[in-house]
Amino acid sequence: MSRRIRRRSFTTKERILFAEEHGRTCSICKKEGLMFVSEIKEKLLSEGKYVFTLPDGSEVVSAAYFDDPLMKDKAANIDHKTPLSRGGTDESSNLQLLCRACNLSKNNQTMEEFKWRIYCEENVNDTAKEFANKFDLSREEVVYFFRGKDKVKTFEFMQKLIRSVE
Ligand SMILES: [Zn+2]
Repeated sequence: MSRRIRRRSFTTKERILFAEEHGRTCSICKKEGLMFVSEIKEKLLSEGKYVFTLPDGSEVVSAAYFDDPLMKDKAANIDHKTPLSRGGTDESSNLQLLCRACNLSKNNQTMEEFKWRIYCEENVNDTAKEFANKFDLSREEVVYFFRGKDKVKTFEFMQKLIRSVE
């Protein structure tokens, strides 16, 4: 049994209302014209793409729509800037529209952690060398932490390193 608390997700109506108020641009990479999955499915269905007919005669899009360029390029999610699991709320000031790639990349990080990680990744060579010298680690060890899968731990580690040189 999973002990994770499940939150109700936003309804289609709530998502569309949010996009109408805040625009359809990814808050991180600034990609424009994002659409929610329900809207993409509707569009594909109206274009006769990936149509699958159910026994009762109704038409739905088959799972193949997942490979459609529209899904890869335009699919959007409403993201919690500070994740619910980290104390964030459902208030609109804590919400932002993200494309799928940015949403996956941000994961359960806060925006502060995310920006910091991107900074580290972009500067990984210089920063790793610097840290490796300062803390007598191998460059590989430092890069491992920078690119660690556990983003929260990585962030905590980086903060500890930075505080210790301050
Ligand atoms: Zn994006």
